[in-house]
Amino acid sequence: MKIVIGSDERGSALKDTLKELLDSRGIDTQDLGAQTGGDDDRTVSKRVAEHVSNGSADQGILVWSSGRALAHEANRHPHVRATLCCTPHMAKIARSRNDGNLLILGADLLDPDEGIEVLNEWLGSQVKQSPLPTSAQPLVSEPAAPRPAFVKKEILEANDPEIFEAIQGEQKRQRNTLVLIASENYASSAVNAAQGSVMGNKYAEGYHGKRYYNGCEFVDVAEELAIKRAKEIFGVDHVNVQPHCGSTANMAVYGAVLSPGDSILAMSLDHGGHLTHGHPLSFSGKVYNIVPYGVTRESERIDMEQLAALAREHKPRLIVVGASAYSRILDFEAFRAIADEIGAMLMADIAHIAGLIATAAHPDPAPFCDFVTTTTHKTLRGPRGGMIMCRQEYAKAIDREVFPGLQGGPAMHTIAAKAVSFGEVLRPEFKSYIQQVIDNARVFSEVLSSGGIRIVSGGTDNHLFMADVTPLGLTGRDASSALEAAGIAVNKNSIPFDPNPPAIGSGIRIGTPAVTTRGMGEGEMRFIAAKFIEVFGSIGDEGRLRAIGEEVAEFSARFPVP
Ligand SMILES: *Cc1c(COP(=O)(O)O)cnc(C)c1O
Repeated sequence: MKIVIGSDERGSALKDTLKELLDSRGIDTQDLGAQTGGDDDRTVSKRVAEHVSNGSADQGILVWSSGRALAHEANRHPHVRATLCCTPHMAKIARSRNDGNLLILGADLLDPDEGIEVLNEWLGSQVKQSPLPTSAQPLVSEPAAPRPAFVKKEILEANDPEIFEAIQGEQKRQRNTLVLIASENYASSAVNAAQGSVMGNKYAEGYHGKRYYNGCEFVDVAEELAIKRAKEIFGVDHVNVQPHCGSTANMAVYGAVLSPGDSILAMSLDHGGHLTHGHPLSFSGKVYNIVPYGVTRESERIDMEQLAALAREHKPRLIVVGASAYSRILDFEAFRAIADEIGAMLMADIAHIAGLIATAAHPDPAPFCDFVTTTTHKTLRGPRGGMIMCRQEYAKAIDREVFPGLQGGPAMHTIAAKAVSFGEVLRPEFKSYIQQVIDNARVFSEVLSSGGIRIVSGGTDNHLFMADVTPLGLTGRDASSALEAAGIAVNKNSIPFDPNPPAIGSGIRIGTPAVTTRGMGEGEMRFIAAKFIEVFGSIGDEGRLRAIGEEVAEFSARFPVP
């Protein structure tokens, strides 16, 4: 293997260090020198790119002061796949997923040891035959080249310029904002291609083998594959992939096995539960008698003693375990023991943590629960939708409640996209993705904690955590608006036993699924968390917040959106 290396003046010291490392490994390395001209003179970078492009070198390395604009220029050369890598993780992704052949390092962004780490990872990472159809697009490149937000964009542009503009605007917003909203993620281009497909034209009321319409042979393939893959992922008896969203999935379970007025024991909204777990304005709170449980004041973890006492007192027919804002492991086995004691059914709502369960990064509900409901668009990273899994004995009742009970025709384009995303979940890369999501959440919470912010329950076991900002003299509303002004999206949230009303809140909820999809690792989390602390110290100073916002946008643009 032959490598060509070059730098600008500021990068020349790091370049020399890296050259030594390459020599010591016996790699044939040609040093094309350090650029002496000004910023506009790019002779050295051009020569490095040309060597890689024409095959006279296998790989290139450029060490530039910031390196921001270089990847874009280098990628104009045929066969060059250049990426600015600030962390070993980025180098690994650039090599293994995109077959990167030109490594760009920012001398101002790295100290020499970090530069060596990145190069070692680059050299050690092998190209994997990426199974993702998106692999032709560099997942990590810099700056992110504008990509079409949807298939056949010209047709929409000509047909409906107003909607076209709105979608382009949203695409840009998603690229320039750091999305730390725990329930959001970026579906792959393959998932989006299936979502935008002709399968949306088809009526397919019913289920495979008992459809009420003709011509279902192809949509049947999609639904069968989605079911088969979901069974493989979650190890369940029966799957219904038709619910339009997580809320209707929950509605279908309640409707299938309960009567109006029956009692459900579910997590209180104030302590992290979901609207469909009994909010008075939700169907759940209107139709059923909801008994809420919560966390203890001291540990801020689920109060299992209170749960058992409430179960004995109210004898609910159904217990729901699952939450939208809870950062700790859910002990499904302990819930089952309580359900068994009073003869209740148990439902796990894994809308948030489905991706973690799919990769065994969270205990499995399937052995303990009668029903498992989920969304498919949060950590599972599929299209917007819902799904129900259950024991065989409830299969008929669940299917009947979804159709014709609640819904008419299933959204076959969404079901096709669910199948595509489940296929992605089954690949080894998804497991590393989820592990990175969890590592990122932990590092993020640790940095915030060392900046004086209190982390609810003292930390996190999953993809999200709640930060109590009152020790800084702030409310959740103050904190989330200031972050928004700096281009960072989080949501304000009540914390358990919150003294502030819900519209204000004492906390913010932070999740790492979306930023991790963009290729960010622990180094990036440290950077973002440091920006949080800067933002909280700059409240009221519009100029300073705007300046942080510009930095955030520049940082964010380096990480392409799928
Ligand atoms: C997000 C969520 C849902 C509902 O999902 P929608 O698709 O928005 O209806 C249900 N349960 C929990 C715990 C959730 O977090």
